[in-house]
Amino acid sequence: MSDAVFKKVRLHNGVEMPAVGLGVFLIKPGREAEQAVETALQAGYRSIDTATFYDNEADVGRAIQRSSIPREEIFVTTKVWPTDQGYEETLAAFRRSLDRLDMEYIDLYLIHWPRESKSRDTWRALETIYNNKQARAIGVSNYTTTHLEKLKQFWGISPMVNQIEYHPYLQQPELVRYCTANNIRVEAWSPLMRGKVLHDTVITALAAKYNRSPAQVTLRWELQKGLLVIPKSVHEKRMVENKTLFDFEIGAADMEKIDALDRNERIGPDPHDINF
Ligand code: NDP
Repeated sequence: MSDAVFKKVRLHNGVEMPAVGLGVFLIKPGREAEQAVETALQAGYRSIDTATFYDNEADVGRAIQRSSIPREEIFVTTKVWPTDQGYEETLAAFRRSLDRLDMEYIDLYLIHWPRESKSRDTWRALETIYNNKQARAIGVSNYTTTHLEKLKQFWGISPMVNQIEYHPYLQQPELVRYCTANNIRVEAWSPLMRGKVLHDTVITALAAKYNRSPAQVTLRWELQKGLLVIPKSVHEKRMVENKTLFDFEIGAADMEKIDALDRNERIGPDPHDINF
């Protein structure tokens, strides 16, 4: 089976999440976002990663409804933005997300970025949402080991996922080890580094060797490392390419060649420095 959308990963609470989903950041709200999600669903995607900040939750919800695919077959992730953090504020933001998506529950609800002063109350709100069965899983995004260590002091339920920037140029091995040791699944955002790693000569040489595209080699490397991936594209051909990942396997020596590309280079903000 070459289609990665059928591969599922088990979160620590037993919920199964597709290993590959469609990311919708920077897809224009309105027709473009709705169309992209429609196309992805038709192509077989069953996991969509949105956020309040992306301003396209309503389009995601509409595309899912129009598809006539049963709601329970689609895994929907959304996130609470820093300015909405706090206990009551997060509960209210969550309700607004449900309204925009026109859904009764979310599959995975994430704290989008750490906001130190609000972390405890925000996480408590996520636990309430989870206990009320309005989210099947909860987690964080852009949390470093320091953020997680602090959160650990007061979590009753540990996060099921940490969504972080991850690609060949930014591998954060210590953070990944910490998450794995704590049963937190790591999900790679910007898994293609918005296209930047696709021109790397090690990646292009491996693409030629395996007769696959640079994007496929990059995503397959991430899956083989045990990560969840959410590549974004608005093009059907690329959506299909990005989920055709199980008809080849990268050998151990070639995995190491990609591992060696790590240079701690980011495409997004550094959560160590950013201050919300
Ligand atoms: P990606 O690494 O997914 O790269 C997307 C870019 O690569 C787009 O320009 C796309 O162009 C292009 N692309 C996609 N597939 C291919 C392909 N097969 N060949 C060549 N080019 C390709 O970047 P994103 O930043 O979008 O990250 C993915 C998702 O992660 C986001 O959409 C969002 O859901 C999430 N995210 C989460 C963040 C967080 O803070 N939690 C922060 C940033 C992202 P085109 O569309 O024209 O095909």
